[in-house]
Amino acid sequence: MTTIEKKILDLEKQIEAQQRLIDHLLDEQNKGDTLDYSWTGNLGRWYWDVPTNTVTFNPLKAQALGYKLSELKQPIGFDFFTSKLHPDDYEPVMDNMRKHLYGETHVYDVEYRIKAKNGEYRFFYDRGVVTKRDALNRPLLLSGIVFDITERKQNEHQLLEEKERLLKRSITDELTKVFNYRGIIDDLKQAIQDLDYQDNLSILMLDIDDFKQVNDTYGHIKGDEILKTIATVIQKNLRKTDSVGRYGGEEFLVVFRNTGRIQAIEISNRIRKEVEQTVSIDQKPVTISGGVFEYPGSSLYDFIHQADINLYEAKKRGKNKIV
Ligand code: GH3
Ligand code: MG
Ligand code: MG
Repeated sequence: MTTIEKKILDLEKQIEAQQRLIDHLLDEQNKGDTLDYSWTGNLGRWYWDVPTNTVTFNPLKAQALGYKLSELKQPIGFDFFTSKLHPDDYEPVMDNMRKHLYGETHVYDVEYRIKAKNGEYRFFYDRGVVTKRDALNRPLLLSGIVFDITERKQNEHQLLEEKERLLKRSITDELTKVFNYRGIIDDLKQAIQDLDYQDNLSILMLDIDDFKQVNDTYGHIKGDEILKTIATVIQKNLRKTDSVGRYGGEEFLVVFRNTGRIQAIEISNRIRKEVEQTVSIDQKPVTISGGVFEYPGSSLYDFIHQADINLYEAKKRGKNKIV
């Protein structure tokens, strides 16, 4: 084929593509399609001619990415956008498009991120459909509409963060920053459920000795400080899979996952000794007592109650003890 013939063929193909687009646009107009372009984020329509791989669209999308019209080379190709797609979004977008082109889905319908000129990603919602096929049912023309949904995504993200923050707050003890009652009970329930694939489970009910006296002598502010210090000592001695919560005033509940009675007593004693050695007031050591119990109990509250009975026993035997 001579160069002239090649050029003519190219021109013919381009004319065909233009004709397809014109036909489609006329068709749209004849249908009295009254699409309202005032929706938030609406960047207008795009048309993709498949055989020539040309895209006709509103330059608003390029402008949304921070480019001035004057700096864009016309026509803006497909690559202008696909080359700036977020790496994690590339395959899902292509996959979605492939599925639609092969007729597996009724629409091409995706959300994706594109890197803007300033290096930040913007979110787009894109939806299109094959509007023309050839005699062999191969796609010829796709028409779509695209929205800049960056603000919506940012709002969603903020709400999600706020939700997580509130959720965390609802299960955290304000003073000591460990779980509160609700948090540790939920955690214990989960630990009991996890017993299906874990060997055993033990708990420790821990109570500060003669704490009323500390408060009465040195005041509640000093008492609060000691509560915080003891919470820190407990946490320092726990493993990743263990958890602690403030069960009541000066009582803490510790959950030892995958741990038998003997080992739980060992860790509890480590905590007890460290408190005795490091926490003091007016040079008098502050001590704790604890009751350990290994699952099962007849119910969640019976399980806790059994640990409580052991705690009572530790107090009866003279405090600063783990039973
Ligand atoms: P025992 O060794 O038998 O446990 O004696 P105790 O004095 O620790 O026990 P009791 O139950 O009589 O008193 C618990 C005290 O804990 C009462 C209260 O002054 C104190 N307490 C409870 N919650 C808080 C708190 O949030 N902050 C402070 N500072 N003190 C608290
Ligand atoms: Mg108490
Ligand atoms: Mg006490």
